[in-house]
Amino acid sequence: MKTIGMLGGMSWESTASYYKAINEGVKNALGGLHSAKICLYSVDFDEIEKLQHQGLWDETAKILSTAAQSVEAGGADFLLICTNTMHKVAPQIEAAISIPLLHIADATAQKLLTDNVKRVGLLGTRFTMEEDFYKSRLTERFGIEVVVPEKAQRDVVHDIIYSELCMGNIYPQSRAKYLEIINQLHEQGAEAIVLGCTEIALLIQQQHTQIPLYDTTDIHANQAVKAALLG
Ligand code: GLU
Repeated sequence: MKTIGMLGGMSWESTASYYKAINEGVKNALGGLHSAKICLYSVDFDEIEKLQHQGLWDETAKILSTAAQSVEAGGADFLLICTNTMHKVAPQIEAAISIPLLHIADATAQKLLTDNVKRVGLLGTRFTMEEDFYKSRLTERFGIEVVVPEKAQRDVVHDIIYSELCMGNIYPQSRAKYLEIINQLHEQGAEAIVLGCTEIALLIQQQHTQIPLYDTTDIHANQAVKAALLG
């Protein structure tokens, strides 16, 4: 079994979901007392979040590149960045290490294409919904069309992520707001919704809607398990 490298702590609430999903995946595949080989570097999210909102992305790239080098030195065979947003600096992190990066958007796109989904609604942080690093990867590399909520709704989605979900606070009124936005994206032609932030599945699960949901945390974790068990 290969060792899975993880850059986590962004937030730790979702890293805990990754840790559980990866270990469950290995247990389901191998049975008994088997568990995943993981090398995890968990950052202080307060530091990262402040730099994000000041636009100091190069600073975040430096912190995460150094952390990724530690993960590689710790014996990881490949790396997961356990957040959609920080894939904004994935090229810099990738350049700092010699192990492969398993990109969260690629894992998600592959799953969508397997299910023949071609037009999705995307929920995530403002960075993920508004900037190009994520949407264009889905569109240009995989031909998947991406619809995002309108500005006021993007603000709602973003604020709930940082001020509630990343702190482990799950409120029914926020779930209702998300579900309303999901319904509107569906009305605009989205066949499915990509939960493009690793904390959203803490709030919204498939049981809450009939519109198909693609949870990037779960998809990324499952892909990592497959990659770990291949070699
Ligand atoms: N975990 C979130 C994501 O998947 C947001 C936190 C962050 O900014 O990294 O985008």
